[in-house]
This record gives sequence, C-alpha cells and structure tokens, in this order.
Amino acid sequence: MTALFPVQIALQMPAHSAVGHLLTYAAETRLAPGTLVRVPLGKREVLGVVWDEPAADEAPHAQAALQLRPIAGVLDGIAPLPDAWRRLVAFAARYYQRSIGEIAMAALPPQLRELTPEQLARRLKAAKAAAKAAAADAAPALVALSAEQEQVVAQIAAGAAERPFLLYGSTGSGKTEVYLRCVQAALDADPAAQALVMVPEINLTPQLEARFVERFAPQYGAGAVVSMHSGMTGPQRLKSWLAAHTGQARIVLGTRMAVFASLPGLQVIVVDEEHDASYKQQEGARYSARDLAIWRGRAQAAQVILGSATPSFESWHASRPATAQDPGGRYLRLHMPSRIGAAELPRVRLVDMTQQPRRAVFSPPLLAAITERVQRGEQSLVLLNRRGFAPVLYCADCEWKSDCPHCSAHQVFHKGDRTLRCHHCGFTQRVPPACPSCGNPDILPLGKGTEQLEEELVRLLRNVQRPDHAPARVARIDADTTRAKGALEEQLAQMHAGDIDVLVGTQMVAKGHDFRRITLVAAVQPDNALFSSDYRAAERLFCLLMQAAGRAGRDAAYLQAQGSRAEMWIQTRDPQHAVFSALRSHDYPAFAAQQLQERADAGMPPFAYQALVRADARTQEDAQAFLHAACQAAREAGLPGLDEVFLFPPIPMTIQRVANVERAQMLLESLDRMALQRFLHAWQPLLHQLRAQPQHRPLVRWLVDVDPLAI
Ligand code: ADP
Ligand code: ZN
Ligand code: ZN
Repeated sequence: MTALFPVQIALQMPAHSAVGHLLTYAAETRLAPGTLVRVPLGKREVLGVVWDEPAADEAPHAQAALQLRPIAGVLDGIAPLPDAWRRLVAFAARYYQRSIGEIAMAALPPQLRELTPEQLARRLKAAKAAAKAAAADAAPALVALSAEQEQVVAQIAAGAAERPFLLYGSTGSGKTEVYLRCVQAALDADPAAQALVMVPEINLTPQLEARFVERFAPQYGAGAVVSMHSGMTGPQRLKSWLAAHTGQARIVLGTRMAVFASLPGLQVIVVDEEHDASYKQQEGARYSARDLAIWRGRAQAAQVILGSATPSFESWHASRPATAQDPGGRYLRLHMPSRIGAAELPRVRLVDMTQQPRRAVFSPPLLAAITERVQRGEQSLVLLNRRGFAPVLYCADCEWKSDCPHCSAHQVFHKGDRTLRCHHCGFTQRVPPACPSCGNPDILPLGKGTEQLEEELVRLLRNVQRPDHAPARVARIDADTTRAKGALEEQLAQMHAGDIDVLVGTQMVAKGHDFRRITLVAAVQPDNALFSSDYRAAERLFCLLMQAAGRAGRDAAYLQAQGSRAEMWIQTRDPQHAVFSALRSHDYPAFAAQQLQERADAGMPPFAYQALVRADARTQEDAQAFLHAACQAAREAGLPGLDEVFLFPPIPMTIQRVANVERAQMLLESLDRMALQRFLHAWQPLLHQLRAQPQHRPLVRWLVDVDPLAI
C-alpha cells in the first residue's frame, strides 16, 4: 500500500462559506507548497493550491489519511507558486476578511480551472516555444530627462526599496518617463528582475503598453512586456500569467487584478494615478490593489512607486515630511511641479451660473470660447459625469417619475435607443409614449446627461467652421458609446488624429490620456458631485477636475505655434467653494492640508480606520435585524478590540434597494488599525454562525468592506 500524506489545499468553496480556510486531502507524495492541483469537491473536480508546508518529520498518517479524499492530480509543467505569492494571498484574505481559497482562485487565470490537462499541456508547449524567440538586445533610444525627472530618478535609485515613494508630479510632468527609467534600472541590473506597473483603468493600458513595448522590446524582446486586465480573453490572460510566472515576461502592465500576478523576480512596483478609486475592488473581496502593492513591496523587498498629480489624502499624509514634533510619514515624497517643455497648467475660469441665463447648459462665454477653439482648429473636452440623455423622465401633471420598479433609483432616459434604463440593476424598458400614470403625452426629461450635451453642442455649433471650412465635429465617449469591442480605441484614435473638435465624455476621458491638441476643458455641472453625503466628495471632485484640467495644454510647442492658451472652465452655482478656489490656484497641497485638518478634527480617515458591514435582505427590517444581532453577539462575546472599536448603529444604504434587495450597513471605526483587525477577525465566525440561525434565513448576504471608499 502506498503511503499517503495529508495536504492542505486552498480552493474556491461556495461563496463566502463558513468552512474554514483550507480543506485537507491526501497525496501520494509530498507536494511543495504552491503546487497547483486538481481535487474532487462534491461531484466536481476543482483547481486548488497546496497551501501548508508539511512538517519535515511528519510521517505519512496512513490511518488518518485514508479517510481523506485523494487529490485528483497535479498540474504538470507549472512550477509551484512562490512563497511570496502565498503570503500575499494569505495577508489579503486575513485583512479583507475573505477566505484564502477565494482570493487565491480569483488571482489565477480562469483558464487554469477550465482547461483539461491535455489542453493545458498544449498551451504550455506553445508558451515554451514562444519563449525561445530570441531577444533583440538593442539599446533603447532614450529621451533626455528634464532636471526634475533626473533628480527624482536619482532619489529613487538612492532610496532603493527602503520605503515606498510617492511621486507627486503635475499632469504632464513626465511621470511615465520616470517609471520607465526605474524599471529599466532594475531590469538592467538583474537578468531575473521583474516589474509590475499598474494603471487604474483598462482604457489606459493600450497607451501605456505602447510606450513600454517601444522602450523595452528592442532590448528584451517582444515577449518582455505583457498586460493583465479583465478585458482580455481567457487564452490571453493565461498566456500573460504564464509568462509572468515563468519569469519570461519582465514587465507586467495591468489593472488592480495584476497586483496578484505571480512574479518570482519582482523588484519594482509602480501604481500610477494611485488616488484612483478603481484600485479598490467593489465586489467580492473588497481589496485595495494600491494598499496591497505597498504590502507586497515590503514583503518582497521590491521598490514601490506611487504616482499622482492629486495623491489620495492617505498617501499624502503618509508621505508628510518630518518636522520638529513629527517624525514624518512612512513614504518618501518626491515632487515634479513643472510640465515637460515648460508648458503651463491651464488657466482656470469659473463661471458663476447664478449670473447666467436660466436653463443654459453652456453659458454664453463658455460657448464663445469653445467656438473660438473650433475656428482655430484646436480641440475641446467637455466633461459631465453622467451618461444617458437625462437622469429622469417626469410628468408635470401628476408628478410621475421614471422610477426603477426594482431599485430606489430613477431609470435614466437614453434617447438614442428610446429606452429607460436603470444604471443599478440594468432593468430596461421602452420609453412610454405617454405618462403611464395619467396619460399626459408630454413627459419631460429632467436634468442633463452626456447624450443631451452632445446633441446640444451639435445644434449650437452647427454654423461653426474649422480652419479648413469643414463643419465642427462633435463626438461623445462614455460607457454607452464604447460597449463594442475596439470602439473606445477607435474613438480615442480619432481624437488623437484631430478628427474630433469637441469631445463630450465622462470621467473615462478625463484621466491619464496624453492628448496633444486640447486647449480647453470644461466641466459643465460639477456641483452635483458636492451634494453627496460622502465625506470624500470634495476630495474626489477636486481630483477629477485636476485630472481633467491635466488633459489641456500638454504640448507647449503646439500652444505657442497656435498662439493659444490652455483653459479649464468650470460652471458652478457656488464659485466660492473651497474645491474651486483650490483648483484655480492649482494648489493641491493647500487643499489637502485644509481637508486633512478637517479630517483630523473629526477623527476621520486617514486618522481613523473604518470597516463597513453590509447586510442585504428582502426587507430593510431583516437586513438591520442581522446587523443588530451581530452587534449584540460581539458585545456578549466581549470580543478583543471591542474597547477600541466604535460600532455605529445600522442604517439603510443611500441607495436602499437594488434589484429588489434591501440593503443596510453599519460603520465600524477605530483609531487603531490593529484593534479593528483583531475585532473583525474574532467577529467573522460569529457572523457566520448568526447567518445560519433560522431567524436570519431571510438574509440574502452579508459582507465586510475594510477601508471602504464610500460610506
Ligand atoms: P504624466 O504622466 O506626468 O501626466 P507623461 O509621462 O504622459 O506625463 O508625459 C507627458 C508628455 O511629455 C508625454 O508626451 C511624454 O512623451 C513627454 N515627455 C516626458 N518626459 C520627457 C522628456 N524628458 N523629454 C521630452 N518629452 C518628454
Ligand atoms: Zn402623469
Ligand atoms: Zn433598478
């Protein structure tokens, strides 16, 4: 009889299950931790990762192991995942209150689960063959660095991996070139070195990939740079993942999911636009890829560079310089205030909408400014963070509104396909010919979305000509116009080629893009964002507007040739608001200082730590009952950390009902991050137990969000 070894396996168990973290199986040989295996689970066979190191002197427990189900097989040809990767996954699971198996499986390309052993073997063979393609080994063509870039690159080289860097550099200051140099230095110094470069949005990866390929392919071969994001097909993701895992890829570019890539030689991590909310996963395991990048950098002794023109207040605070009273933050702050080529930041113009004709979407001076740009052949960008034609349809006779029957939200009017669509649950209907409630045929759109803005601009600019006498061309980029594969790339290419004069768009086009011929950016209704109850609303709006402004006037030579100036226009009914005055002087540090002071006074992050517990049920009472019971259970059990954690009472969420599910949440706050962690860790099993009790049967789900971005 062959000896059997018990082995702990991480695998994906039914969603968020209470069954511990790992399952034990029996193996015929000792398997190295990190080995990918197939194991039986119920009637299925699933992918798993060997987790724990069997103790060296552990004899095969023939008796105990016989009771265990044997593993079905090992994924041949794939080296075990590195220890550092397992530690990262274990940390993320513990910190964000999820199971190891869930995080581990989500971090692996889906095809590892789906392919048969034969299919997988074929893929591995193909990957090996591709790896043989020789690298070109030509020296890359380098641009001369600006003085600021030079200095920052030197500071990073000198600081090595001791502590994370926050590269605070204006939009257009050439942060990407700094990343390229730091990656270059690491790769040149060590033939096994790898770099991870993250961007917040998929639509920023093609541009970045082009720059990295251009720089590194001549020297390290075309396969040296790979991407990783959710827009890729299964085979593409598997290919990138294998290339990173085998060390064949030297640079991985990707969105938040890339933070979990297996990178045995990882030495540099870049998080570009580190303030961006997209780094926080908003479903399933709610992790922050930026925060995990910091953790991973420390654990793997890799250099971490966070970059932004408008850093998150967390990172800004963490990089504060030392003073007499304060030893300073954990990060090192580096500053690049100037734009490349001495381009100036756009002049900010505030239009007081209380002094403008009522109902005008475009105030006369803004319209005149856009018109002038078109006539000079320059481009304008009009930003409105709301897609569709109008956020709601309304009947003036009976006050009917286009409410979603399944959510506590309006259905948005989309004129293009004459539909009403709920942006929360997706429920879609034809626009009714008359008021469904009283029959009034005149139902009216209330408020504006990008679709309406585009229509309005086409009308307003219909007699305006470009220098070549062609009529003005208006286009729109938002989630609706870019649904088809390749649509976004095509629209962005048109913008870069100058085929569009005025581009209307959502935040999608406000970030990151290196447009060269935009000289005017306008935010037409930014005030909406300030009505939110979220304490981060001002921070978020400031970032968005700063980023949007950063799309204008990026090419000093072009501005000079045109004899033009870059401008950022803001239409507001509250021109005195702190967000706008800070924007006018491009004074992020002053804005951050003022906001951080308020947060310190109010005991808000980054001076306190938070977690949200959410409960979903068919009724609000059921949802809240679970949270109340959870509170009570914590108090009765006298959980560790309870003294230092403040539990706020459960309340309905802002959008209380989505897809017929009532949602409630409860905020937890502590001045001590570890105390909050201890508490959550001890609390989790109680929540699982409660969930199983008959009186909480109506509960649909519960979940924990650690370091939530929105409350
Ligand atoms: P950021 O990411 O800071 O907004 P980018 O890295 O996109 O800025 O750089 C802005 C523009 O300046 C890009 O077109 C880039 O190619 C160019 N650039 C960057 N560094 C240099 C340099 N040292 N010399 C000339 N052009 C540069
Ligand atoms: Zn009506
Ligand atoms: Zn809905």
